[in-house]
Amino acid sequence: MPSEAWRGGSPVPGGEPHPLPLPTGAYWEALVCPSGWTCRDECKYECMWLTVRLYQQGGHRVPQFHGKWPFSRFLFFQEPASAFASFLNGLASLVMLLRYRAAVPPAAPTYPTCVAFAWVSLNAWFWSTVFHTRDTALTEKLDYFCASAVILHSVYLCCVRTLGLQRPALISIFRAFLLLFLAAHISYLSLVRFDYGYNLVANAAAGMLTVAWWLRWCLRQGRRLPHVWKCAAAVLLLQALALLELLDFPPLLWVLDAHALWHIGTIPLNVLFYSFLMDDSLYLLKANSDLFKVD
Ligand SMILES: [Zn+2]
Repeated sequence: MPSEAWRGGSPVPGGEPHPLPLPTGAYWEALVCPSGWTCRDECKYECMWLTVRLYQQGGHRVPQFHGKWPFSRFLFFQEPASAFASFLNGLASLVMLLRYRAAVPPAAPTYPTCVAFAWVSLNAWFWSTVFHTRDTALTEKLDYFCASAVILHSVYLCCVRTLGLQRPALISIFRAFLLLFLAAHISYLSLVRFDYGYNLVANAAAGMLTVAWWLRWCLRQGRRLPHVWKCAAAVLLLQALALLELLDFPPLLWVLDAHALWHIGTIPLNVLFYSFLMDDSLYLLKANSDLFKVD
């Protein structure tokens, strides 16, 4: 419901009436209010577009506002393209998780790690959808932290597949280290300082480590295991897409920016990578049963 201040036409209680027309009625109450969009948010949003128009009329480059480009809101979706692409990534992860569980028996050696990876990814895409729908201090942290959890889980998955199957003790130590690192990373960012630069460097370093590790393994296994091309292609394309994040341009039609393109690009990569996990788990299962028969 609109607040009293809203009914009074002022963004703050008892303040001056706002010079901009404020939305009212069923649209506002049914679509905007449920997302927690407040009178003050609407005021900031309208003021941003007023400023954008003034910049454009003056022939100046449109600036970012608090580190973000202006986006056209759709209903209560603040960044509609990124929110929709995040939702589709989550949907792709869910469909591939169901396909994986239908195709791979739980006895496959990497089954628990792959299923856990899918759940950690699904969780991250859920919070990514929420964050791009409604950007607040809390949803931003949840998006960032859950994304870091996915990156660290992919390091773990890579370690389990390439080293851990024959060395369970090593994998336990590595898992404890990654969990400690994630706890320290989240504690620092939430309790000490939300340092965007550090967060970017930490995630990029973990991402690069995983890429290098997977590619080295793919190169070595390529001749023996025909399905590893899917892993190599997914990892390389992911890196290429990550470069999009460097192209920081104003959103096309005030909807499609580099970050949205990055999220759109990762949708088919989910399918490719889970397809590799499926093939690889079935291969390991068969290899294990062959070994058992020989024994
Ligand atoms: Zn995002």
